[in-house]
Amino acid sequence: MERRGFIKSLATGALAASSVTIGQRAFASKAEFNWKMITSWPKNYPLLGTNANHVAKLIEQMSNGRIRIKVYGANELVPAFEVFDAVSRGTAQMGHSGAFYWKGKHQAVQFFGAIPFGMNAQEVNAWLYYGGGMELWEELYDQFNLIPVATGSSGAQMAGWFRHDINSLEDLKGLKMRIPGLGGEVLKRAGGVPVNLPAGEIFTSLQSGAIDATEWTGPYLDLAFGLYKAAKNYYYPGWHEPSTTIEAMINKDAFVALPADLQVIVKQACKSANMDMLAENAAKNNIALDTLVDKHGVQVKCLPDEVLTRLSGLCLEAVQEVAEQDPFSRKVYESYNNFSQRASRWTDISEYAYLKGRSLEGKS
Ligand code: CA
Repeated sequence: MERRGFIKSLATGALAASSVTIGQRAFASKAEFNWKMITSWPKNYPLLGTNANHVAKLIEQMSNGRIRIKVYGANELVPAFEVFDAVSRGTAQMGHSGAFYWKGKHQAVQFFGAIPFGMNAQEVNAWLYYGGGMELWEELYDQFNLIPVATGSSGAQMAGWFRHDINSLEDLKGLKMRIPGLGGEVLKRAGGVPVNLPAGEIFTSLQSGAIDATEWTGPYLDLAFGLYKAAKNYYYPGWHEPSTTIEAMINKDAFVALPADLQVIVKQACKSANMDMLAENAAKNNIALDTLVDKHGVQVKCLPDEVLTRLSGLCLEAVQEVAEQDPFSRKVYESYNNFSQRASRWTDISEYAYLKGRSLEGKS
């Protein structure tokens, strides 16, 4: 009897203790957070702006309304290229952009956007989530009071829209092209003139001839942007962005102020959105490519081998130079490069070999 009583009192004590804990948690979880998310895209812009909306909505739904996020398009609160600084100083709690825009902050950011002739979407996500990539990205942004999260992936892009044909390396000389990040650096080494323009200025610049060419993303977004009206030559492959990661960045003070469950929700909502963008883009690119070719008479062309070989060589130089900038860039480069080499060994005999085999279908 005594023993039973002892067990009972233990149980009651444990129950009492847990109900206090639950009560405290319940109290803490009532806290509500109203966040602002600033973006580098026009409001509701397909794929990118809608991914920002999707992330905000997911977080609100998953948190049962405890976090509400108001999404701002570029220039509504701050200009497209000021998202990083504005979230860093807390003007907004969250930003939605691409790390490729911030090389002025630190050269190493480029490994978290896109590396020309680098890893594809599947490999990049493998590196980020299981190869130490996220940890390095977090270490890098920490000095800016930011927490980065991958929230989207484009998959393979197109090389872009050109007013004139690209038949040889000569055609790259003096070519004024909107192409950000390392891709732009590689083009510069090939004799071109890279230009960085925010999304909202690309179409008019190409149409007016202020630029000779532009890359943007792939058929779905490029169709939405109407780029086929400004140039008819649509080149592949997207050597400069074999897959581009879209980022969310969170002000660290705002993130730390969240209870632990909401922190998990914010990160998992972004992770879910990362997968979602890749699937959405893949699904919609197929349809858009048909529309561009069949309805708008777009000429789809492959860049000559000579051009790709040269760009690839210049790219190796450019990426190695990023690694030489500082010890941290070296560390990220080595992580990316080592992972990439192992990944391509596997990809060559899995995805690549399969796709090559599939393309033979019906050709015998
Ligand atoms: Ca692009």
